[in-house]
Amino acid sequence: MDDGKNLEALCAERGLRMTEQRRIIARVLDDASDHPDVEELYRRASAIDPRISMSTVYRTVKLFEDMEIIERHDFRDGRSRYETMPEEHHDHLIDLRTGRVVEFHSPEIEALQERIAREHGFRLVDHRLELYAIPLHEKKRSSDG
Ligand SMILES: [Zn+2]
Repeated sequence: MDDGKNLEALCAERGLRMTEQRRIIARVLDDASDHPDVEELYRRASAIDPRISMSTVYRTVKLFEDMEIIERHDFRDGRSRYETMPEEHHDHLIDLRTGRVVEFHSPEIEALQERIAREHGFRLVDHRLELYAIPLHEKKRSSDG
């Protein structure tokens, strides 16, 4: 998300002391659009500053998560993945072959979910929707029979 406040500004707003390493991890998260896991965040952050350790990344991500300035996802591949709080709500489609995450927003689905909640006597306040999918059209590989 390139509009809205960056993580560093949100941390400052909440009075979090920003070390150089936290700042780098925040920037890596801000720049990411692919919902990276902690290992991937570590790879990117340590490429900027090799002194950053895996445990620092873990701790920082946990801290940001507890502050509710990033969101954690479990896309069923056994690793938590992260993104900055989106400006606008979206849902996710996960390519089971590659783990690639596609973001989408469907007004129809949003309305349908609200209707279902209402029909059960509730007011919808939040939801998560994940679609797990495989590509319709396989890319042809010459080696395939
Ligand atoms: Zn997302």
